[in-house]
Amino acid sequence: MRTPEELTELFRSTGRKVTAQRLCIFRVLQGDVTHPSAESVHALASREMETISLKTVYQTLYDLAELGEIVPLDVGTGMTRFDPNVDDPHHHLVCRQCGRVRDLAASFPELRVPEGADLGYQVGSAEIVFRGLCPECQPEVRGRRASVTQVQT
Ligand SMILES: [Zn+2]
Ligand SMILES: [Zn+2]
Repeated sequence: MRTPEELTELFRSTGRKVTAQRLCIFRVLQGDVTHPSAESVHALASREMETISLKTVYQTLYDLAELGEIVPLDVGTGMTRFDPNVDDPHHHLVCRQCGRVRDLAASFPELRVPEGADLGYQVGSAEIVFRGLCPECQPEVRGRRASVTQVQT
């Protein structure tokens, strides 16, 4: 995703409005590695600007996706997530408990459709979703945190 300044230019050059609310949404998305949902973007942006509506967030995300600046992602967490990392091809790590989504930079040169199994499809790309438990959701980590809290209290 481009910088808020570059996005402003891009939006204007494609006949889209750039408002203070939209700028705030650009800033929130910039460098966000959590693959936020529209609701999370709204929550974050609302901290900066109380007047931002969920509708504005949706419209801005839709425009950004149309311009190829973010990618809507369905990784089975129950809601569409948005990925501002469109420059580096990557896969995803998904926590099956809390729904955290992180980028996984890895290449799998062996990953391809077996000979004769393509059913006539012209395959262009493949993404892999690795599901498991994020550090926060692993019982050992939680246990350690809990004991630390006990010591403190
Ligand atoms: Zn988790
Ligand atoms: Zn990603």
